[in-house]
Amino acid sequence: MSSSDRTCCGVVEEARIRAHNRRAQKPQPWIVLKFAVGLTLALIAYTSYVYVTFCRDMIVKNENALASPTMGIVFLVVFSFFLFIVLWSYFAVVTTPPGYPAHFLEKTVLEQPVHPLPQQPTTSDETRGISFELMTPAADLPSSHSIPMTPPAVPEPTKQDKVSQSTFYYQGSSTPGEAHIINVPADPESAHVPDPAPPLSHENVHDPSPDASSQIFARRPSTTPILVSEYRFCNKDKIIKPPRTHHCRACGTCVLKYDHHCPWVGHCVGAYNHKFFVNFVQWASILSFWMFATVLGLTIKSQSGSSAPAINPQHIVLLALTALFGLFCCLMFLTQVQLIMLNQTTVESLGFRTMQEREQDNLARMHHWYDCGAKKRTKQAWDKEWGRIGKEGNLWWLGSRRANWESVMGKNVWWWFLPVGHGLEDGMNFPTNPRFDKQGRWRRRREWPSDLR
Ligand SMILES: [Zn+2]
Ligand SMILES: [Zn+2]
Repeated sequence: MSSSDRTCCGVVEEARIRAHNRRAQKPQPWIVLKFAVGLTLALIAYTSYVYVTFCRDMIVKNENALASPTMGIVFLVVFSFFLFIVLWSYFAVVTTPPGYPAHFLEKTVLEQPVHPLPQQPTTSDETRGISFELMTPAADLPSSHSIPMTPPAVPEPTKQDKVSQSTFYYQGSSTPGEAHIINVPADPESAHVPDPAPPLSHENVHDPSPDASSQIFARRPSTTPILVSEYRFCNKDKIIKPPRTHHCRACGTCVLKYDHHCPWVGHCVGAYNHKFFVNFVQWASILSFWMFATVLGLTIKSQSGSSAPAINPQHIVLLALTALFGLFCCLMFLTQVQLIMLNQTTVESLGFRTMQEREQDNLARMHHWYDCGAKKRTKQAWDKEWGRIGKEGNLWWLGSRRANWESVMGKNVWWWFLPVGHGLEDGMNFPTNPRFDKQGRWRRRREWPSDLR
């Protein structure tokens, strides 16, 4: 490629990145962001209308009544109770922002390097763990294993600093256009270069001797120093992101402890409204199930007699809507409970899933497909060496399901079920797993504090 081609491509590429960043900085229009909130309210209003009519028919004993007035009253009272808590939780999650660090953190200047920086030395993607970018953006770690998040008074690095005092790695990010600069201190003690993996060759891949294959396919978590604050610079908001913060492109800003962007609540689910979101899907599942079961039960019962009344088409629509909505909320609720107990956000869990899939691929290469025992033994050996992916290997894991749960849902049992109270986290500071080093890299079991080994 000639130098003029390179310049031309460079200009085009730069313009493309600039256009992308401009788009990414802009949130979606208000009407697009809130559209699904209106849709959800309309859905709740319509299903409630049909259900109240269904109960009223029984209470006034008209020709459409499917059961006795007493049953109509009981159904209506239970329904009203569930509907009240659903609307209360929905109000809480819609009116509580997830927490936007750009609103209270000072902007810093930490521009992308103009000249391309040396690539981070990487080993084969096949054998490496996941990039920690996907898993856990985090902060500097003091010895107490909790991260103080002062407003980031990061000194603006001079050009000379960049070149002489540190080795900068320039790394793409999980969010396109969101670049990260990783500053690895020049101090040889703390600088950590990823262990080079032996090269893969076809001979030792397909007919691996136990020693060779275990060397090639060892578990290799990412060696990126993710607790170094420069790593968490957001190019769009120009802030050093607090740990676990991610930039949401729909909202056009960084979100504290980003879980996911939820169109149904009109913004992100993050640090301050995660609990209310869980409360909402919990009660929405229960309400949907109640409406579905009572209407279906009485419709089937009414059809069994000799003089069966015609089925109300609105009841069919109600059954379809509550089944769909209920199933969606129920799956969401179960997933959230599982993730909260592991202290993983949705976006972090994707990183662990990738790591697990990669490990399955490696096991499939090391052993014959039918040799499940050998695969299991290898995996146990890795778990013995490192601990489990997503638990001991999760920077935010607090050691027990209960502790993880309380960090989001709070200590008071009532708070687990009602949209009141708050979790134990403030969205800015998170206790870290002592199985990780000061820069946020997963260590082998032999390097853990002695009481944890
Ligand atoms: Zn941002
Ligand atoms: Zn969002």
